[in-house]
Amino acid sequence: MPELPDVETFKRYLDATSLHQRIVGVDVRNAYVLKDVSARKLAQQLKGRRFESSRRHGKNLFVRADHAIWLRLHFGMTGFLRYFKNEEKAQQPASAKATAGRHARVVFVFEKDHRLAFDDQRMFGEIGLVKDVDQFLKKRGLGPDALHVDLAQFKNILTKHRGPVKSILLNQKLIAGIGNIYADEILFRACIHPATQTSLLKEKAVAKLFPATRYILKKAIESKADADRVPKSWLLPRRGRGGKCPRCARELQSATIGGRTTWFCPHCQKRL
Ligand SMILES: [Zn+2]
Repeated sequence: MPELPDVETFKRYLDATSLHQRIVGVDVRNAYVLKDVSARKLAQQLKGRRFESSRRHGKNLFVRADHAIWLRLHFGMTGFLRYFKNEEKAQQPASAKATAGRHARVVFVFEKDHRLAFDDQRMFGEIGLVKDVDQFLKKRGLGPDALHVDLAQFKNILTKHRGPVKSILLNQKLIAGIGNIYADEILFRACIHPATQTSLLKEKAVAKLFPATRYILKKAIESKADADRVPKSWLLPRRGRGGKCPRCARELQSATIGGRTTWFCPHCQKRL
């Protein structure tokens, strides 16, 4: 499921491929992913315009088109972006569909037939239009972005809210961007058991959790949120049945915490 590092990777991909080209069409192949906008309105609002810049907040990506309208992309569980050119299609006329992806739900068509597809197999993703990003974030009640939050804010979030520390990290209304995989990774790095009640967290633990959060998210972005590229010392490549702790080589354990399957090392992350 795309989390902050994945969405940041999509942002960089979009910035590198899809800005400053005139949009000549919007091909909505499945309107299910559209939120509060019809296929007609989406095309109407974007046609003739250009994507100029983008901004990420938590797991949301906002793409500004000229004349101040923002396209909002949320990648749900399986969403991602793919940019391709007409040459590929020309080389494989019989598989134009394969080029666009079997799960391309919305395709933005630029001049010269370059295209950006929003691909989303399971369709939990969302595409919408937003006039004012800050207002949207406020209305949704989203917390500060996990990479922009400072130590004082972070401490405040953890000390003012009760519950298992993992649930707090996952709560998008408190801190936006962290999902199941990276919450586990952050807690593993900080040697904190994911079920630890925040009320039991010592100041020292919180002080460890903050840099761990920043480190994991930044390093994951550097690794393009790819499980094959993250450091071998991480939990991510080993989570799953039979996985061994990269630190102590003991078997990892799983439990449902915050409603999600959680992996941790019961030896390195002692429960308080
Ligand atoms: Zn261990």
